[in-house]
Amino acid sequence: MSRVGTGSSSAGQPGPRHDPVRLPLPPAPCRGTTAATLLLNATFEPLCVVSSRRAIVLVLAEKAVSVDSSPDVVRAESVTVPVPVVARLTRYVRVPYPTQVPLSRRAVFTRDGQTCVYCGGSATSIDHVVPRSRGGTHTWDNVVAACRRCNHTKADRSLAEMGWKLPQPPRTPSGAAWRLLGHRTVDPRWREWLGVPDSVSA
Ligand SMILES: [Zn+2]
Repeated sequence: MSRVGTGSSSAGQPGPRHDPVRLPLPPAPCRGTTAATLLLNATFEPLCVVSSRRAIVLVLAEKAVSVDSSPDVVRAESVTVPVPVVARLTRYVRVPYPTQVPLSRRAVFTRDGQTCVYCGGSATSIDHVVPRSRGGTHTWDNVVAACRRCNHTKADRSLAEMGWKLPQPPRTPSGAAWRLLGHRTVDPRWREWLGVPDSVSA
């Protein structure tokens, strides 16, 4: 839902590559803009997460259009802008993605559905399948979400020694959505664009 500038602007210039928009920031709003906005590329591919304040600047500059907005509005000069929850760039930006999704506790929890891979309980720690003391690496294919109890019980033993099995081999997640999930809290309203299951919460 966009009420602001749906036309593309500044055509003919080289593609913007996250160029800062040099516009005066709207006056500090009273509420609603401490939130984050999911920024999509012109092709609707998730690109990154920006502050809602930054998203508003992009919308005002007609560099982005609001795709989904919150009931909150920000008044800037003569316009009233709904705070974007999801915004889409009006021009395609080519982004060289790193091939590896950053390995973080939050990302591992997200991949494993916030549950312990051994018992299905709530995940509270990261377990190295092959213990680090036995040469196990801190890599996607050797880390899993685990509850503290299972982690403690397993300690420095291998799965074979424990007689435990993994439901599936741990894998490196891929795709733009996972890059975002690695370090952000996911707004439920982004899910449609990120292609993540409802069970994922961050
Ligand atoms: Zn467990």
